Amino acid sequence: MGSLPLDGHTNGNANTNAGAARTIKSYAPATGELLGEVRVSSKDDVRAAVARARKAQAAWGVLPVEERCERLLRLRDAIVERADEIVDVVSAECGKPRQDALGHEVTVTADLLTWYCKNAPRILAPREVGLHLLVHKKSTVHYQPRGVVGVISPWNFPFAIPMGDIAAALASGNAVVVKPSEVTPLTIQKAKEIFDATGLPEDLFGVVHGFGDTGAALIESGIQKLVFTGGVETGKRVAAACGANLVPCVMELGGKAPLIACADCDVERTARAIVFGGFVNSGQVCISVERVYAHEAVHDTIVARVKELTNEIRQGDPQGDATVDVGAIIFPKQIEIAQKHIADAVAKGAEVVAGGKKKEGTGQFFEPTVLAGCDHSMTVMKEEIFGPIVPIQKVSSEDEAVRLANDSHLGLNAYVFTKNREKGKRLAQRIEAGSVVVNDVMVNYAAAETPFGGVKQSGFGRIHGEDALREMCDARHVLVGRVPEPSNDPLWFPYSQKAYKWQMRVLKALFSRGSIVKRIGKMF
Ligand code: NDP
Repeated sequence: MGSLPLDGHTNGNANTNAGAARTIKSYAPATGELLGEVRVSSKDDVRAAVARARKAQAAWGVLPVEERCERLLRLRDAIVERADEIVDVVSAECGKPRQDALGHEVTVTADLLTWYCKNAPRILAPREVGLHLLVHKKSTVHYQPRGVVGVISPWNFPFAIPMGDIAAALASGNAVVVKPSEVTPLTIQKAKEIFDATGLPEDLFGVVHGFGDTGAALIESGIQKLVFTGGVETGKRVAAACGANLVPCVMELGGKAPLIACADCDVERTARAIVFGGFVNSGQVCISVERVYAHEAVHDTIVARVKELTNEIRQGDPQGDATVDVGAIIFPKQIEIAQKHIADAVAKGAEVVAGGKKKEGTGQFFEPTVLAGCDHSMTVMKEEIFGPIVPIQKVSSEDEAVRLANDSHLGLNAYVFTKNREKGKRLAQRIEAGSVVVNDVMVNYAAAETPFGGVKQSGFGRIHGEDALREMCDARHVLVGRVPEPSNDPLWFPYSQKAYKWQMRVLKALFSRGSIVKRIGKMF
């Protein structure tokens, strides 16, 4: 293994061969060590991977869902069996603590696979639908796999994010072709290696590597569905490309999760939640605590306690040290973004309470940073940070906190801390976000049973839960008569004044308020 000189922009696992070379090198962000490289896929490679996946899907998609799920559980078993190997590569390639890699990547994936496999037979079973108007007909909705699903994924959770989408796609009878982030290509290689060793058809799970143009080629390759996870600006380009190709898509985009600390919150738990929710995975989580609105009754105590807890965080290279809490910054550009947010906030009056700068020496590390005295004139309160910074703003009421929480173009996750759970639930109803968690942070991503996704510019469509499985399918409606059909139908040609009058009588009988049919049958 070689190593890359660590000199600011080119350190860590950022590849430096985006132009001419046809490989992508992966570097450990905590040490700069060269971990390995992968070959960049050409447009022809992408088309070929989709063609192979389509062939494999033809056989996979017609298997009974129970059998597919039974076979897919082999993947879950292999992931659990080889968890240490996955942790090794994720931890090295992302510079994240092994405990993060185990809990947030491997366990979440094993749970999702288990839930999909156990529940897909029920969720995707043909569904009979009672008909109001066409009482003489019977309808059944069948959930048909779409075909080949493309997955384009980011670098912050390079195992759990694509594997969750892959699990939903395969359980529903599709094949997948994945384009991982160019920053973390080795993790998906490990996933592919484990998949192939299970004896499942290899072409069901294709991998193509590259940059934005490889993702664009995947969208144009004839896929039937795309699940994209990434930033808002890229998401807009990807959604436009999907529109041009009429590819249905799920958009999992950025977040700016607010945490509201009510006057009656448990201050210790709230402070610990802010520190964990803001700094786990170095803040590179779409549902990180990205801004705090603390009621004036608890504001000062929370700021003081968050400062203490932040100063206790053990940061460093997690390889070989299980006590490291916070590891490296995966993508060096995030360091520049963090520095810009801090400079802007300080210029506008914020105070750096803890941290505030890049760590000197080997590796890409940024100190967990707490900013107090923040307000919405600062970019740190309005734009996604995606790094280890927690900005705190004092508010004088819960109404003010809700108003500020909703003053954002993003709406993925939100958090409310209060000892009054009923009040927490009421506040949750007023916050514009795909998920709101009361008295906890981030856990909703691990609730395999529930839909996950955003509102506003955080995207559309849902992953996880029943929605994810149905999103992977086309609904096919089959309609048959309950009684033998006459040789001509009163609704068909030839039209006549008599038929028109008859239809008018039916309309009034069925839908007029107080009609006899409505009163007797309560059918409508
Ligand atoms: P990007 O949007 O930069 O990239 C996401 C993926 O899209 C990468 O694989 C990227 O390839 C690819 N890509 C880039 N350009 C194109 C294009 N024109 N057509 C098709 N694919 C393209 O996001 P990051 O990787 O930087 O991830 C961070 C972002 O992801 C944050 O905003 C974060 O909030 C969001 N995110 C959202 C989550 C959610 O569930 N809502 C979860 C996790 C992260 P390449 O890497 O080669 O550029």
